[in-house]
Amino acid sequence: MIRDPFARSWFALKPMSIKPDFDFLIIGGGPAGSVAASWLARAGWNVGVFEREEFPRFKIGESLLPDGNRALKEIGVWEKVEAAGFVKKPGAEFFDENGSRWVHNVFADGLVPGRDYAYQVERSRFDRLLLEHAVECGAKVHQPCGIRRVEFTEDFVRVETSSHERCTGAYLLDAGGRPGMVGVQEKLDKDSLPYSPKVAVYSHFEGVSRFSGKRAGNIVITRLPRGWSWIIPVSDKMTSVGFVGYVADLRETKETPETWFWNAVEGSLFLKERMAGAKPGMKFHVTTDYTYQYRRFGGRRYLLAGDAACFIDPIFSSGVYFAMESSLQAAGVVAGHLRKGASGLKPRAVSGYTRSLKRRVRVMRRLIETFYSDRGFDVFMSPSERFRLFSAVNSIVAGNTRMPFGLWIRYKLFLAIVRLNERISFIRAGRKSARAEPSAERVGHSSGG
Ligand SMILES: Cc1cc2nc3c(=O)[nH]c(=O)nc-3n(C[C@H](O)[C@H](O)[C@H](O)COP(=O)(O)OP(=O)(O)OC[C@H]3O[C@@H](n4cnc5c(N)ncnc54)[C@H](O)[C@@H]3O)c2cc1C
Repeated sequence: MIRDPFARSWFALKPMSIKPDFDFLIIGGGPAGSVAASWLARAGWNVGVFEREEFPRFKIGESLLPDGNRALKEIGVWEKVEAAGFVKKPGAEFFDENGSRWVHNVFADGLVPGRDYAYQVERSRFDRLLLEHAVECGAKVHQPCGIRRVEFTEDFVRVETSSHERCTGAYLLDAGGRPGMVGVQEKLDKDSLPYSPKVAVYSHFEGVSRFSGKRAGNIVITRLPRGWSWIIPVSDKMTSVGFVGYVADLRETKETPETWFWNAVEGSLFLKERMAGAKPGMKFHVTTDYTYQYRRFGGRRYLLAGDAACFIDPIFSSGVYFAMESSLQAAGVVAGHLRKGASGLKPRAVSGYTRSLKRRVRVMRRLIETFYSDRGFDVFMSPSERFRLFSAVNSIVAGNTRMPFGLWIRYKLFLAIVRLNERISFIRAGRKSARAEPSAERVGHSSGG
């Protein structure tokens, strides 16, 4: 794997009349960090990436979105992703708790053409592939090498690594994910968002009943009375399964997260059937602190990208997508300033970046709110092709948050119907929705059954 190539002497702090060590310092070698690093290095900038963990490492966030393929193409890694043997994801399926209501979003049927599929990825392999690509593009990756402190001056940024070594850059991109190094250190304000705290409990399983044929690679989401669950086929054998519920509920039950998970499975006819005989292939993981968003995604010498900027409920698998999209955008903003020789990011540029990313995140948040609202879910589960509304929702589920007018207007109409239904409840429970008898086969039994 990529090794830390630092030479000790190289780290000695330089007097600041001298050029910084890097044009760009990047905290984190996840999707946000690797995409920005690749893009900037390909554009000829001197980029240093610091990733504290040795790869491959487990990471959740395995279901990608078709609109995210654009970022992968932009940095020239798409062919490698296509050749890596990940599970192809042509759509998303949504069920209610007992499987009696079903909606199947086929990406190829979306309003926006050319977003036909994405991939379900084991993040250990995907993240390593992206980071190695960044190295090939010319980024200098230091790994395992954590950043423990950041210091901003008028003219540069200085970081200190976990082994107390230092280096400098003209700008910093915090792509360090949920720990939010810069946000925490600089005590940045967060927006107050109207969501109850959630917790996710998950693992990889063998022996989960999966759909076959064209549906084999779909993500399957089940809405439960107090939360939801995902089923993501990540390899021939293994399936990622998780349950998301309310922190308050978990506290109240006093159960272990694992028992809580299995109780949620037992309580859903649909999930019980899928999970009969499924066995975890690794320990259970628990993630809390679910939704947050910093007020500003940057300052004079830095920008935040990916989870370091904001995180929303992953029902619609938008995390990696936003990580890659935001880092591309952030890289473009800073590269523009560097090219012009500006001394620091202009406040307008930081606000513009923040506004534009928040606008796109809001598109997904509206769909998430629809999913959590009972009456909204009724609309979501009752697809109608009148005015091509279902095609429009398909496109949003595929991640088209930069909406062309035709999509924008239809999505507005869809949300208006949701709001109306929340008031007068004229659409009920998807009675007219397509209901296929989903055939399932058990995948990944160690017996091969
Ligand atoms: C339960 C759950 C389910 C999810 N499901 C999905 C899904 O299906 N699809 C999807 O797209 N997204 C999903 N997500 C979201 C997804 O995991 C994230 O949005 C995505 O990983 C963000 O990428 P990133 O590059 O911003 O951060 P990360 O992937 O977290 O990468 C950040 C990297 O920075 C490193 N780092 C952190 N701090 C430092 C430091 N101080 N110094 C050096 N390195 C550091 C970390 O080691 C890490 O490798 C899910 C999230 C959760 C919690």
